[in-house]
Amino acid sequence: MNTDSVVVVGAGLAGLVAARHLAQAGASVTVYEQRAEVGGRVRTRQQDGFIIDRGFQVLFTSYPAVTRELDLDALSLRRFTPGAVIARPGSRSVLSDPLRDPRAAVSSVRTDEVTQTDKIRTLLLRQHVGTRTEREIFDSPDQSIRSYLREWGFSDDYLDHFIAPFYGGITLDRSLSTSKRVFEYTFKSLSTGDIALPADGMQAVPQQLAMHARDAGANIVCEEGVTDIIDHTDSVTIETETTTVDADAVVIATDPADARRLSGVESIPTDTRGCVTQYYGLPIADAPKTRKKIILNAANSAPNTVVPLSNVASEYAPDNQALLNATFLSSAAFERDSDTLAEQTRSALSSWYPDRDFDSLKPIVTDRIEFAQFDQPPGVHDTLPQTRAPGGRTYLAGDYTAWSGIQGAMRSGREAAIAINADWRVVGFGSNIRKLSTPCGPLGFVSSSSLLPDRLVSSESISYISRYNHHILDR
Ligand SMILES: Cc1cc2nc3c(=O)[nH]c(=O)nc-3n(C[C@H](O)[C@H](O)[C@H](O)COP(=O)(O)OP(=O)(O)OC[C@H]3O[C@@H](n4cnc5c(N)ncnc54)[C@H](O)[C@@H]3O)c2cc1C
Repeated sequence: MNTDSVVVVGAGLAGLVAARHLAQAGASVTVYEQRAEVGGRVRTRQQDGFIIDRGFQVLFTSYPAVTRELDLDALSLRRFTPGAVIARPGSRSVLSDPLRDPRAAVSSVRTDEVTQTDKIRTLLLRQHVGTRTEREIFDSPDQSIRSYLREWGFSDDYLDHFIAPFYGGITLDRSLSTSKRVFEYTFKSLSTGDIALPADGMQAVPQQLAMHARDAGANIVCEEGVTDIIDHTDSVTIETETTTVDADAVVIATDPADARRLSGVESIPTDTRGCVTQYYGLPIADAPKTRKKIILNAANSAPNTVVPLSNVASEYAPDNQALLNATFLSSAAFERDSDTLAEQTRSALSSWYPDRDFDSLKPIVTDRIEFAQFDQPPGVHDTLPQTRAPGGRTYLAGDYTAWSGIQGAMRSGREAAIAINADWRVVGFGSNIRKLSTPCGPLGFVSSSSLLPDRLVSSESISYISRYNHHILDR
């Protein structure tokens, strides 16, 4: 039997962030990941010279966890231009953000799509959410995105032609029945930052997190699924597919379904949202010109969006080729074969760009992704489990403890590390681990005064705690 101090189950974004912070705190950390590679839901493959992310995913550069955990320069980010192309049969309008994309000021938007009143309300909404923190937004009373925006007085045309495809693309719910908290937070984030892709694909994000975790001393073991966790209160036993490990604490950072199975915590949500995505190659001369904007289907969700990926990140396609992505949101799309989906995209593009020919559009990959996010109806965030929900020496991390997205996942990993760090001596993991007599103050702060008299606590630990507390204050 092996012994490890802290085991992290799952090398998605949450697990990798938790591993890095725990290792930096001085714990001996082993991450077990059942798949052959790190990244969880954020994965990329190479095919025929194209870079193919698993589903259309993007990085919001203003997410606090993104700026805190990642070296964005090293990711060589390629940025979308703010706004979108709103497309319908026979016409297209460019909706730009005049404050952030002045070059697009002359672009026209059909007045039935976005009225002056809608524009003014957008600015007022931006002011309203701009000063609110993530916590304030997610603690506020909830309702659906549609009813929230109706209360704000937005026109139905604006909701159906812009908000539904754009935010429906983010929440994978074109009906806008999702919690308005997700809308408020992503809307706020879009007002202050960019949407971007790493030049090497989205999996560069977890790969960098894994590098940070390894640099801090964490050991990441892939192709080793965890089958069972037994919490003895004074230690925890982790059974993997090939071995049994004793640890002082375990972080379950899996997808929600496995987290529920391993922890027994019933409040872990298991209703899911998915999508079907298809990637196409075509000669660069045949690709629609969108000036690095997403194309929104104002009429229906087949497809909901078409994204000119290589127009944004030229690395995504080989020379003289373009890479497009289409995302389908309806459940019917899961039943359709690849040729039918490709024909739907060709036909949508031809109707939006009647002067162009899309016969050269060739499907490269079709992904039917049943689980992309957990379902987020209004109020769901009030019922999500906290990191300490299992009790004993078992902790939870994962977007399902915060909200579904990269920010929620990374934040949850850090919070799990903070909780372990606050509940147990920082130095003294392993055989010395023990409960603090005054474990933490409000908001999970670790009190350095409770640690200072203890000879086991090193100056590195105190500086680590101080950095953590600073982070908490920073949120
Ligand atoms: C198509 C798609 C589009 C998305 N678009 C966006 C977007 O644009 N922006 C955004 O912010 N978010 C987006 N998301 C959501 C975002 O990717 C997730 O919220 C985030 O990656 C979740 O990370 P996680 O670490 O919580 O969980 P996961 O990524 O699910 O990681 C869990 C890990 O645990 C492993 N695991 C599970 N069970 C075991 C076990 N028993 N033993 C060992 N390992 C195990 C899994 O293999 C996995 O690696 C999208 C997701 C998808 C799929």
